[in-house]
Amino acid sequence: MSEKIAKDVLVFAHPDAAHPQHLSVAAARLITLAREITSGKVVALAPSSITPQHFSQVGVKKVYYFNPEETGTWQVGAILADLVVSAVRSSDFGVVLLPSTSWGRDAAGQGAILLGSGASVDVTNLKVADGKLIAGKSVLDGTWETSYYMRRGIPVVAMRTTSLSAVPAAEAGEVETENLPVQLRESTKRIQVVSREETGSTHAGLTEAPVVVCVGRGVNSDLKPAEELAEVLGGSVGATRVVCEQGWMDRAAQIGQSGISVAPNLYIGMGISGDHHHVCGIRGAKKIVAICDDPEARIFEMADFGVVGDLFTVVPDALSRIKPLDA
Ligand SMILES: Cc1cc2nc3c(=O)[nH]c(=O)nc-3n(C[C@H](O)[C@H](O)[C@H](O)COP(=O)(O)OP(=O)(O)OC[C@H]3O[C@@H](n4cnc5c(N)ncnc54)[C@H](O)[C@@H]3O)c2cc1C
Repeated sequence: MSEKIAKDVLVFAHPDAAHPQHLSVAAARLITLAREITSGKVVALAPSSITPQHFSQVGVKKVYYFNPEETGTWQVGAILADLVVSAVRSSDFGVVLLPSTSWGRDAAGQGAILLGSGASVDVTNLKVADGKLIAGKSVLDGTWETSYYMRRGIPVVAMRTTSLSAVPAAEAGEVETENLPVQLRESTKRIQVVSREETGSTHAGLTEAPVVVCVGRGVNSDLKPAEELAEVLGGSVGATRVVCEQGWMDRAAQIGQSGISVAPNLYIGMGISGDHHHVCGIRGAKKIVAICDDPEARIFEMADFGVVGDLFTVVPDALSRIKPLDA
C-alpha cells in the first residue's frame, strides 16, 4: 500500500457549472486524490450550493461551507485565498489542494503567502514518500519531469486535474458540516465584480473533456469539420495559438505552453504542425491522432495514429464512417 500522511487534507471543491448543487468533475478528482494521500480525513471547503450528499459519495468527512453571496465569488483569487486561510486556521491540515485554474493558481500563491507556506501550481502528480509530500510537474515545454517538496508551512498545491480520476468512495458515510467563519482582508472587501463574460461554448469543459478535437492553421478559419467531429465523438474543440491569434477561436481554447493543458482519452489534431509550444499541452493525452498534409510534420512523431492528407477530405470521410453512439 502506498504511503500516506496522517494529517487531514483540505480540498477546495467548486460546483459543476451547469448544476450548482453537484460537485464539478475537477473537484471529485481532487477529493479522490486527497483520499489516496491521507490516512486522516478529507475535508472540503465549498460554496453552500453543493449538497452534503455529493460529498458523502466521494468520501469527504467534513465540509466547511461558505455563502458566496456574503463572501463574494470564489473565482477571484484574493477572495478564495481568504476562504482557504479561514479554513486552514479552523483546523490542522497537512496540505491544501486546489484546482490549477487561473483563480486556483492565484489563490494558491496568495494563500501560501498569508499562511507563511510554500505553494506550487500546475502540479501533475502528488504522492507521499519518506513522510514527505512529493509534488511533480513537467517544465521546459514538457521536456523534463521534476519532483520536489515544499519545506515551509502547510503546502498549498494547485493541481492539474485532467489526468486524475474521480472514483466514488467504497461506501457513502456521514458528512459533518459547518459554516465557515470567514475573515476577509480589508483589501479583499473592496473587490467588486463588475461584469462577467462568457467565453463561448465550443471549448466548454476542454480540460475535462474525454475527447479533444484541436484545430491548427490548416483549418484556414473553417471550424465546421472539427465541430462536427467533436459533436459526434462527444468532445470539445481546442486550438493552437495561431488559430486564436487569427481570431478564429478565442484565447480560452488555446492549448499549449501559454494556454491550457489537456489530458483526454483521445486527442485529434487537424492542420497542426506539432510545434513543441503546442504539444507540451497534450502530453497527458492517452491516444493522439494527427491529420496533416505535411508528412514531415512533427506532430507525427508523437501520434499513435497519423493520416497524411487534406483535412477537408479526411474528416468528412471519417465522419461518414463514424456512427453516432445512439444510432
Ligand atoms: C513563447 C511562445 C509560446 C507559445 N505558446 C503556444 C501555445 O500555447 N500553443 C500553441 O499552439 N502555440 C504556441 N506557440 C506558437 C507555436 O510556436 C506555433 O507557432 C504554433 O503552435 C503553430 O500552430 P499550427 O500548428 O496551427 O500552425 P503551423 O505550424 O503553421 O502548422 C499548420 C500545419 O497545417 C498543415 N496544413 C495546412 N493545410 C492543411 C490541410 N488542408 N489539411 C491538413 N493539414 C494542413 C500544414 O502543412 C502545417 O503542417 C507559442 C510560441 C511561443 C514563441
